Parts: sequence; structure tokens; C-alpha cells
Amino acid sequence: MAKRSTRAQGDCRALLTRLFGYLDRELGPREQRAVEKHLAACHCCGPFAESLRRTIAVCREAGEPEVPPAVRRKARARVKALLSRADAG
Ligand SMILES: [Zn+2]
Repeated sequence: MAKRSTRAQGDCRALLTRLFGYLDRELGPREQRAVEKHLAACHCCGPFAESLRRTIAVCREAGEPEVPPAVRRKARARVKALLSRADAG
């Protein structure tokens, strides 16, 4: 069977809990940078954050300044799933 190489680890847990602050640009510049760095290198939350960011970009282009509640809710559920997988890991 395939190894579980994508499970969330400590760094990912911290990142996922800050992901919405990052996407809403509520973090300080240093934190934003740290999150970006993690996402660029991480196989766990990187692809997830990327798809989320793309969704948000589309929303912004459509004139939505904020992440729509439906998107946010779905993303939160996904974050929760990733985090619980980390616990089970
Ligand atoms: Zn990660």
C-alpha cells in the first residue's frame, strides 16, 4: 500500500489554523511570508491552499471583496479533515 506521505504535521497544523488569516491578509507581513514559504514547499496544505486561493481570486475578479461564506465553510471543513487526519496519523 502507498505510504501516507501527505499527512499534516505540526507545522501544517499551525499553518492551517492561520490559513484564513493569511487569505484575508490579516496577518503581519512576516507571518504572511512564513505561510507562503510553507505552502510553496508543503505537499499537504500547499495544493489545498492553492486551489482555495484560486477560488478566492475568481471571487475577487467577480467583485467579491471577501471570501464567500459557502467557500469559507467548505474550506473550513477541509481544514478540519486535514487536522483530524493529523491527529489520527
Ligand atoms: Zn503543510
